[in-house]
Amino acid sequence: MKVKFWGVRGSISVPGPATVRYGGNTTCIEVKGRQGECIILDAGTGLRCLGMDLLKRGVPLPLINIFISHTHYDHIHGFPFFAPCYIPGTVIQVKGPVHYLEKRSLKDVFDIQMQYDFFPVSNQQLAADIHYEALNETSMEINHLRIKTQFSNHPVRCLGYRITENGRSMVFTGDHEPYYNLFDTEDAPRSPESEDNLLFGDVEATVRDVNRRFADFVRDADLFVVDCQYTPDEYPAGKRGWGHS
Ligand SMILES: [Zn+2]
Repeated sequence: MKVKFWGVRGSISVPGPATVRYGGNTTCIEVKGRQGECIILDAGTGLRCLGMDLLKRGVPLPLINIFISHTHYDHIHGFPFFAPCYIPGTVIQVKGPVHYLEKRSLKDVFDIQMQYDFFPVSNQQLAADIHYEALNETSMEINHLRIKTQFSNHPVRCLGYRITENGRSMVFTGDHEPYYNLFDTEDAPRSPESEDNLLFGDVEATVRDVNRRFADFVRDADLFVVDCQYTPDEYPAGKRGWGHS
């Protein structure tokens, strides 16, 4: 497989002289399989440039598989600007998690960002044949590519993806913060005699387990694409709990 980064930023696109080297677009990664399979991880603003590039490569376009880590703006905002959406005959499959507290489907979320208040073209007016599917933890195959998902730790439901072809793997965590013990706070010191220690210990063990499970998911990847929003100085200074590493 070949992997190309079309957008690497989080939260908001940041064009300008300071971001020339890696680009200013939000998350979008292209994974091209050996037989030309088109897999796209996240539909941030980088998707716009990828869409134009796909058209340059020639029509008809291949089946386009877009896997969304989660539905925060910076991971779906390129979709209305994705030129293949406007090409009749193009088939696009959009898959990703939806937040479990909401009653909305994945399609609803994409419809909303293209409501007339926000964008002049509605989702229903797009010429391509677009299908939506909500994902949980699962595994699937696209030809010889095997795709495995696992939830990562973020304020909304978020999936990491592991894609394997011919024994080589790439992992994309989506937005992720290592799990931590919510009771481990400086403003609530625990006395060794406190009954809370029982609960604290249970939570510690659970945290260890879920972090280990995530480590197993990413282990031995040939390419590891991981959320690294904060510097080691920024993270402990009030950013814990924000769902980023
Ligand atoms: Zn997010």
